[in-house]
Amino acid sequence: MEKRDYYDVLGVSKGATKDEIKKAYRKQALKYHPDKNPGDKKAEDMFKEAAEAYEVLSDDDKRAKYDRFGHAGVGSSAAGGGYSGGMTMEDIFSSFGDIFGSGFGTFGGSRSRGQYVNKGTNMRVKVKLTLEEIAKGTKKKIKIKKYVACSACNGSGAADEQSISTCKTCNGTGHATRITNTFLGQIQTSSVCPACGGDGKTITKKCPKCYGEGIVQKDDIVTINIPAGVGKGMQITVTGEGNAARRGGVNGDLIVVIDEKNHPELIREGNDLIYNLFISIPEAILGANVEIPIVDSRVKIKIEPGTQPGKILRLRGKGLPDVNSYGRGDLLVNVNVWIPKNLNREESRLFEKFRESESFEPKPDKNDKGFFGRMRGYFE
Ligand SMILES: [Zn+2]
Ligand SMILES: [Zn+2]
Repeated sequence: MEKRDYYDVLGVSKGATKDEIKKAYRKQALKYHPDKNPGDKKAEDMFKEAAEAYEVLSDDDKRAKYDRFGHAGVGSSAAGGGYSGGMTMEDIFSSFGDIFGSGFGTFGGSRSRGQYVNKGTNMRVKVKLTLEEIAKGTKKKIKIKKYVACSACNGSGAADEQSISTCKTCNGTGHATRITNTFLGQIQTSSVCPACGGDGKTITKKCPKCYGEGIVQKDDIVTINIPAGVGKGMQITVTGEGNAARRGGVNGDLIVVIDEKNHPELIREGNDLIYNLFISIPEAILGANVEIPIVDSRVKIKIEPGTQPGKILRLRGKGLPDVNSYGRGDLLVNVNVWIPKNLNREESRLFEKFRESESFEPKPDKNDKGFFGRMRGYFE
């Protein structure tokens, strides 16, 4: 069977935006989701086909290759009947599971060997870090209200061992199979067992503390290790620290989103820091030693006599560490010269003298490329 065009699979145009593609895939995935179509091989193939199309079209690089070379460009073969891609159901859930969102309810679980496994929902928290914390890395203790396994029943939801029994409706499989007679013949459909909700077990006497859910809400303190060099918008996933699943499943994850507090004096630009230094006219002319801030203390730097405003001094390695490597950014000191207004009569008289002086005639450097030229020298 010929592979279908990925755009046709998702029902979008060739010029579809990423958002349109994501929405289209979500629609398809929900329609053909195995939990909505249990035992339906055709739906499973459609589900996998949509995931394969989404995997390619959601990736700029793969999409460009697919647009130019078709299926051959992204290494998917046109041979074989039905679905011939390399993605298993597990791959799809682990790669695109989050597309279903938390509103997907019981479908948020993952499957292994046909048995339904409950998965707790993921939680998101935002942490706002100071520049000092970002520079060194930090441990943050965060208080969150989340579902944890009930301590009274160890998460089983049952009042005691004796009140847990194998579900009689599904004999512990968690699936209910139904045979319907239609004019096409007998059709066998399988769905999540309505009696036990897919657990395969029934509880005769529920745990009084959690009312049989196996989970209770609790304030929890989670310690999060934040590496040095993180930046605004980055996410750190703490596996298993999200909500617990009902009746002993797999915990969801805690997703930590990084935010930054502004530093009163230093401006962040990637791994580099920028400091706007203001010196006085005499300091620019005569030279000076001035103190400037670095992330966690202050250092003295030398201003050479005759320093022009707009000069950028680079302090190597005084920026932020790179989150992915051993590199470190620089501190760039942008030198400004403060021009006073409202001089008193004596001061004005002094500067009147300089007006005529040969030394005060502007003699600009012909090679100076101006502010952007100077900055470009550092950032490119
Ligand atoms: Zn309980
Ligand atoms: Zn059952």
